Amino acid sequence: MVTRKKVVLITGGSRGIGAAAVTLLAERDYVVAINYKENHSAAKELVRSINAAGGQATEFQADISDENQVEALFSSVALRYGPITHLVNNVGVLAHQQRVESMTAERINYILQHNVTPYFICAREAVKHFKKQDDMSKCAIVNVSSAASRLGGANEYVDYAASKGAIDTFTIGLSLELAEYGVRVNCVRPGCIYTDIHRDGGEAERVSRLAPQLPLRRGGTASEVANAIVWLLSDEASFVTGSFIDLAGGK
Ligand code: NAP
Repeated sequence: MVTRKKVVLITGGSRGIGAAAVTLLAERDYVVAINYKENHSAAKELVRSINAAGGQATEFQADISDENQVEALFSSVALRYGPITHLVNNVGVLAHQQRVESMTAERINYILQHNVTPYFICAREAVKHFKKQDDMSKCAIVNVSSAASRLGGANEYVDYAASKGAIDTFTIGLSLELAEYGVRVNCVRPGCIYTDIHRDGGEAERVSRLAPQLPLRRGGTASEVANAIVWLLSDEASFVTGSFIDLAGGK
């Protein structure tokens, strides 16, 4: 039996939720392309550990907010591994906690340029790769949104929450466009997960502060989100498209 090669690209795959998904996907015999922006040592260490465990991974530096760099990223991955078969749109950024009444256009545009436009551009490039497959119905995309898209991010990050609302809508629209090819597009919506993103938002201990207010009374882990990403990408989810999995401890 010929085993089909599964090549997955994970944007922002070197740390946090992306890195947890990278590790699980490598264990499940995906060839993994790990995108990162600045922290080469984190990306390199992840690649080293995967390859030491018998997996196959390479790190690819690219700023996902730059369309030219995204195009170059997809070309580099194809050169190394052939066309990708799976995409995890994972990069998301926060600015410091602030109310809407203080937000500048510069800040809002920064959020949208990182959290929304790249998801479209990466999906566009992924579809070009998918079209090179004999059977596109094995290809899939998972978008990483946030529980904030349902909750609104009041007093902290309404701009971020709105950008994730755009990703929810994007997931629905793209899933309908790609259904004719059999390509599935789904979305995960993490809640409070222990990663470095909260430090970037100005409150490193945010998850610990909010955990007692969650129905499950704790924050989540990157691995708990990664499990859902991996399942949605897999053939086990073959009849699932345009769907959302909330990983938010009940809120
Ligand atoms: P994180 O720990 O802050 O990881 C950030 C990752 O993204 C790193 O690999 C980083 O690479 C990369 N990155 C950042 N900017 C980039 C750019 N412009 N181009 C390419 N790569 C870039 O993030 P996370 O918490 O795992 O979040 C992952 C996703 O989950 C995001 O979409 C986030 O909105 C969503 N989410 C997270 C939570 C949570 O509580 N953590 C909750 C809801 C949703 P470098 O290190 O090289 O910069």
